[in-house]
Amino acid sequence: MSATATRGALDEKALGELEASFRGEVLRPESPGYDHHRRIWNGSIDRFPAVIARCAGAADVIAAVRFGRRSGLPVAVRSGGHSFPGHSSVDGGLVIDLSPMRGVRVDPEARTARAQAGVLLGELDRETQAFGLAVPAGIVTHTGLAGLTLGGGIGWLMRKYGLTIDQLLSVDVITADGELVRASADTNADLFWGVRGAGGNFGIVTDFEFRLNPLGPVVLAGPILWRMEDSPDVLRFYREWITDVPNELTTIVVHRKAPPLPQIPPELHGERVVMVISCYAGTVEDGERAVRPMRQFGAPVLDLCQPKPFVEHQAMFDPSFPQGWWYYFRSCDVAALSDEVIDIVARNALQMRSPLTAFPIFQLGGAGAHVGEDETAFNGRAAGHTININATTATAAGFDEEREWSRNFWSELAPHHTSVYVNFLMEEGEDRIRQAYGAARYDRLKALKRTYDPENFFRLNQNIPPG
Ligand SMILES: Cc1cc2nc3c(=O)[nH]c(=O)nc-3n(C[C@H](O)[C@H](O)[C@H](O)COP(=O)(O)OP(=O)(O)OC[C@H]3O[C@@H](n4cnc5c(N)ncnc54)[C@H](O)[C@@H]3O)c2cc1C
Repeated sequence: MSATATRGALDEKALGELEASFRGEVLRPESPGYDHHRRIWNGSIDRFPAVIARCAGAADVIAAVRFGRRSGLPVAVRSGGHSFPGHSSVDGGLVIDLSPMRGVRVDPEARTARAQAGVLLGELDRETQAFGLAVPAGIVTHTGLAGLTLGGGIGWLMRKYGLTIDQLLSVDVITADGELVRASADTNADLFWGVRGAGGNFGIVTDFEFRLNPLGPVVLAGPILWRMEDSPDVLRFYREWITDVPNELTTIVVHRKAPPLPQIPPELHGERVVMVISCYAGTVEDGERAVRPMRQFGAPVLDLCQPKPFVEHQAMFDPSFPQGWWYYFRSCDVAALSDEVIDIVARNALQMRSPLTAFPIFQLGGAGAHVGEDETAFNGRAAGHTININATTATAAGFDEEREWSRNFWSELAPHHTSVYVNFLMEEGEDRIRQAYGAARYDRLKALKRTYDPENFFRLNQNIPPG
């Protein structure tokens, strides 16, 4: 589809009224900036909305929702624009874009922060780390806080401080009727349960309030690298090591061809490696003690696990996941790194072709596993690891082959799948969404959807239909 093909069926009167009242910007295909603002992170998805409503505040969001209802256009909601399957854009429809809403307010005394929906993870860290505080979130700074939080939020601090939703105190939500509703443990508790894991289904969150926790600002963090051929031995040692590490330590294992970054010696560039990346949310001395056994295992080819500002560590993956490359994902949770899982991982890792593919295996457990399974809509707290088989190319060239590699790898792991993290799903159908929540939670979410969005106005998401 092209920009011109999206014109024609618009309700011009309704659109004119929206434009006249809007504090932010309303973009049509012919508007300056349209082409920039229609693009989303995943370059393999290229959509042409009819209208992009770039909201300046909650009043604009309400006006955009009402316009969406009146016009009958399909509605996509966008915050950071990082949805893997591109749910934050829609051909010929309305994009309600919250990315201009970037305010963050930290209260260091009360240890709370308020963040608007357009805030990116690095922006929140910048504000909270100024006071040695943090919200546990994801591992790439340009990811949107909104979408990440509404699906759960896993990352470097999760074993110490839980998922992002575990530190969420309240949200302001604009419902499908265009009404503002607050949700917290005390107010609209049913909605608060649902937004913590299935958020996009019930309305548009404009503001988040988080509890803050002490962190750093200097932490022991970074990767230790071995040759990928050593992966079966590294992973077998790793799985024993992590049975006995403190919750301050969260690790991620990445298999990839070493990227040509300044901190990596040129002789390693393009070489296949396995990395164990640590982040210790405690003192550097305790971190050194916890990481030592892994550091001393086998013959690492590089050790970059050092004291550094948390915000520097947090940006480590940014060069690996820039805007506009072509990305495809298949993901699953597994209970443990059994011998079979390790062998499948190690064998498939050696078959990746693209120098840009880098797939993470997240270590779960710790504080995230101590929250009751029924306390939030998030599923999979009991899993051992989340594997995210990410296939990446810079352009369409080689993408199909790499995507096939990801699919085959994921299929081989099928006997070991437990749950799946909803934010790591592509467009995979209702059964997979049910699997992401588990049957009982999924039914409860359907009932909640009937209360808050019975007409399924918010459906361009990992959708839970009301019926
Ligand atoms: C490079 C990269 C790294 C990632 N790393 C992690 C990680 O470490 N941990 C992790 O947990 N996840 C991670 N993710 C996955 C991430 O959590 C999801 O892609 C998430 O949806 C991104 O949020 P967003 O606001 O950028 O997305 P968007 O594309 O803007 O939105 C994603 C979905 O959320 C809905 N939505 C967005 N904003 C709102 C809102 N304000 N109110 C209601 N619904 C809304 C949208 O409709 C859409 O369905 C990563 C993704 C990328 C691309």
